[in-house]
Amino acid sequence: MASFPEIKGFLETSFTDWKGQVAAVVFLARCNFRCPYCHNHRIVTSPHEVPTWPWDEVEKRLVRLRGWVDGVCVTGGEPTIHPGLPALLERFRALGFRIKLDTNGSRPGVLASLLEAGLVDQVALDVKAPLEPVPYRRNAGSGSDPEAVDASLHVLERTAIPLEIRTTVHPALLSSEEVCRLGRDLGRRFRSRAAEVGWTLQRCRTEEVLDPDLRDAPPLSPEEFAVWERAARTAFAQDRYPLDPPPGPRPGTKSRRDRP
Ligand code: SF4
Repeated sequence: MASFPEIKGFLETSFTDWKGQVAAVVFLARCNFRCPYCHNHRIVTSPHEVPTWPWDEVEKRLVRLRGWVDGVCVTGGEPTIHPGLPALLERFRALGFRIKLDTNGSRPGVLASLLEAGLVDQVALDVKAPLEPVPYRRNAGSGSDPEAVDASLHVLERTAIPLEIRTTVHPALLSSEEVCRLGRDLGRRFRSRAAEVGWTLQRCRTEEVLDPDLRDAPPLSPEEFAVWERAARTAFAQDRYPLDPPPGPRPGTKSRRDRP
């Protein structure tokens, strides 16, 4: 049996990582994507510089938390790249916890087998951009794989598991048209499961992100973000673009959208 993946961070209680639940959070190292806006990049690019939590300590704390927290959120990095992930989730189950998995969708086979084994109660899937090579590379790096994310979405279309899809928006990385196009695609896929599937758009924060260039690129203001979000939600919920074209990036925004 594969050993447990190294745990690079542990939060005893979080009210924000699992909507409506109080959750402990476990952070696993490394990731196969390189999103410019990654905030956990130390455990992605330099995990050896981050101390590893001894499993015994994590387990001891989780045992104490039983009855106080509803479940464990497993995040990263990218959890599904670790061969020991199923064993870790089985252990959380044996301790009596519900499990939420955060993933970038790059390992549809792993996701399918975890769901089949009943080891996950909720999935949060990051969909970074429309599922095409150019916008995906721009938002998640050259190692990203939109076909794999597409396959993960197909896996999730065939289940009844609660699903939160998340997209981070920065005007230097995504156009409002791309966000709307993605919204329409996601809305079409999950129309019949609208009650269990949510799409969260996140306004990109640029402090402490992986790519130093992005730290100087102005994000959308809250007001601009609200306009983009309204347009994208219309595309998601109503399968159409809004009547008025959504605005493009603010003049002067440094754009990487034309980069290969
Ligand atoms: S998918 Fe992107 S944001 Fe998430 S951990 Fe990997 S590099 Fe960071």
